[in-house]
Amino acid sequence: MDCIFCKIAAGEIPCKQAYEDGDVLAFYDINPQALVHILIIPKAHIGGAEEISPENSALFGKCFEAAAKIAGALNLKDFRVVTNNGASAGQTVRHLHFHLLAGRALGSMG
Ligand code: 5GP
Ligand code: ZN
Repeated sequence: MDCIFCKIAAGEIPCKQAYEDGDVLAFYDINPQALVHILIIPKAHIGGAEEISPENSALFGKCFEAAAKIAGALNLKDFRVVTNNGASAGQTVRHLHFHLLAGRALGSMG
């Protein structure tokens, strides 16, 4: 499949890694929107939040477990985790990912 985040998960495209376990990979966003901007992805391809199902929903929990571990490791007290689903919501990469944002005052959600 021609998916850039699958290629990153497979090690075919390099990334600056922040966390990895068997199911989840986290890496620094190439175009950061905050002082700390990390992307957390399931290694398995899921197109977006709309594709969550009873079969794969455990991966959501694992991504949020990873967020908590990363925040702890980086000593982040306050942070935001968001996902965009669909182009008009800002999704540009069609592989489920969570943005972990921290390090400056984060505005209210629009
Ligand atoms: P979205 O807009 O889909 O919610 O988020 C996609 C994010 O992936 C963007 O913030 C973009 O900067 C980031 N991104 C796109 N391609 C790459 C890449 O090759 N490497 C890394 N590290 N980030 C990427
Ligand atoms: Zn993918």
